[in-house]
Amino acid sequence: MNKYLEKSSGTKDEKRKLMDKLKMSLSAEPVKYNESGTVDCKKEFFELKFSYRRPSVEENKDHFGDEALRELAGRESVKQAAGNYWIIDSITLTNLENNFSANITDDLPSGFLIVYHPLNPNERHRMRTDAAGKYKFIDIFDDLTKPYTLVALLHELGHARDYATRSDEEKKRFTRESDKPEKKELADLLIKERNAWAYAIQKLKRFLNNNFLNKDDLLKIAHQIMLLQYSHGIRLKLMEIDKIKNDDEIKKLTDELDQEQKYILGIK
Ligand SMILES: [Zn+2]
Repeated sequence: MNKYLEKSSGTKDEKRKLMDKLKMSLSAEPVKYNESGTVDCKKEFFELKFSYRRPSVEENKDHFGDEALRELAGRESVKQAAGNYWIIDSITLTNLENNFSANITDDLPSGFLIVYHPLNPNERHRMRTDAAGKYKFIDIFDDLTKPYTLVALLHELGHARDYATRSDEEKKRFTRESDKPEKKELADLLIKERNAWAYAIQKLKRFLNNNFLNKDDLLKIAHQIMLLQYSHGIRLKLMEIDKIKNDDEIKKLTDELDQEQKYILGIK
């Protein structure tokens, strides 16, 4: 596994700067969300178009009604945003230089819904496959007109596609992370992250002829920011397993890592 762990490069301030650039909306005006609607914005050679709507009663119940979300629902930012989420049914990207288009939502495995929380920028994007109802969810936080949100959505979609290819047995454990993971579990975690990034990069590669999002930026986000943070986290867990550091030291280092990640992502 060690050869797949990313090595440090760049300062956290450089990374924060890149993140800030990628969190500038493509839309000239802030988007105002109604009951349902379509958002269409263009910048340089890029066009992003998506449609959203309020969830149905059943979708709502599945999303906020199960055990896994009860804990989440207790969190202040989620509570505040509870009435402010939508379902995204379609997303189309177009390269205006050569008119190449990709419909992102065509890649969504069956049973998955994209739940969109544009007014809540302080949560981490996630995929949930353990809801009690019939749906599985990709929860996207912050406005999708920001390139980073789109990148994050593609990453989560990569996880959903990876999940859909797994056996029933693997599916059961796909998003479950144990407190005391074994080495094999850590290796699998890293593979999942790499798979999800591979999908996101492949999906975006025909849209990288822009200053606001180019190939260099995308690779930096994937490797030097996201996979690096995972790699650091995995190194800490390995130190814990091999008893190289004591629990207090691990806890301190884990908290520092968490703080650094929040700083880079600009989340509170
Ligand atoms: Zn991931």
